[in-house]
Amino acid sequence: MILLSGGTGTPKLLQGIRRVIPDEEITVIVNTAEDIVVSGSLVSPDVDTILYLFSGVLDISKWWGIRNDTFHTNNALKKMGINEKLMLGDADRATCIFRDVLMQKGASLTEATLSLSAALGIKAKILPMCNEKVDTMIKTPEGILHFQDFWVGSRGNPEVLGVDITGIKKARLTKEILDALKLEDNVIIGPSNPITSIGPILALKGIKEILMTKKVIAVSPIIGNSPVSGPAGKLMSAKGYPVSSNGVARCYGDILDIMVIDDRDTAKGDTAKEPDFNLKTVRFDTIMTSVEKSEKLARNILKLFQDI
Ligand code: GDP
Repeated sequence: MILLSGGTGTPKLLQGIRRVIPDEEITVIVNTAEDIVVSGSLVSPDVDTILYLFSGVLDISKWWGIRNDTFHTNNALKKMGINEKLMLGDADRATCIFRDVLMQKGASLTEATLSLSAALGIKAKILPMCNEKVDTMIKTPEGILHFQDFWVGSRGNPEVLGVDITGIKKARLTKEILDALKLEDNVIIGPSNPITSIGPILALKGIKEILMTKKVIAVSPIIGNSPVSGPAGKLMSAKGYPVSSNGVARCYGDILDIMVIDDRDTAKGDTAKEPDFNLKTVRFDTIMTSVEKSEKLARNILKLFQDI
């Protein structure tokens, strides 16, 4: 099973998937367009969340960082006048240092991530979406902000005039991703942000053509006319999509075979219409407030592959 993932919604679903499918049979292609250098270390927030999920240390009260991590380095830097852009825990920083050491010796981000996975005893294959530097830039009335400056630095408050994924045209699908896609027919696009988490992955040259030949099920991160959490609504509007499951389906286009929407979804008018292409929609309870709920959703989704 292959999943396309960001750092919150899809990891929640992965909690459940792991209770049904052995980790060895799971590949996660992870967004890297929110990566940023903090105090000299490359932080890959979505990749790290997935690494921590599979190694059992993820802080699932926040969906980032390591449970019970300390913040001595972050606090010491603060005392010296350095306010880090992201709150980086000490053990979390060790992950970054491990990655930096390998990358300074010439490893790609994918190679460094595979080494990190091995060091953490992870059996799933965790693959960054590409090795090149790609950045999500948010156009606001105050200027163009890196996604992390918009979302963490400015708490997502500025009006969004546009979203640009810089560097994406030069990014290439990795050999590891191509190999994984050769071996697997079933793909889940988890309930992640369609613009900033899944958007960059689907913008990679050639991936949509490959996904057209696969069985693809997407889970909507939008219920009615709002995301479950985060800035997806604002970003979808800025890109001209309706904030609805239908809008999510339109973002992904005809690679989809089935769209899973929430039982509670009551979007009206244009937003409730089927998209222009042939798409089956199925309703489940998609709000994953416990691992049991994630598992139930995972089982329901996995059964759907038999109908495609
Ligand atoms: P990010 O990298 O932290 O932005 O995380 P993702 O892109 O992976 O996930 C963010 C999206 O997850 C948001 O748009 C939320 O609406 C969605 N989300 C979070 N929790 C849930 C949930 O329990 N169910 C559904 N359907 N969507 C969720």
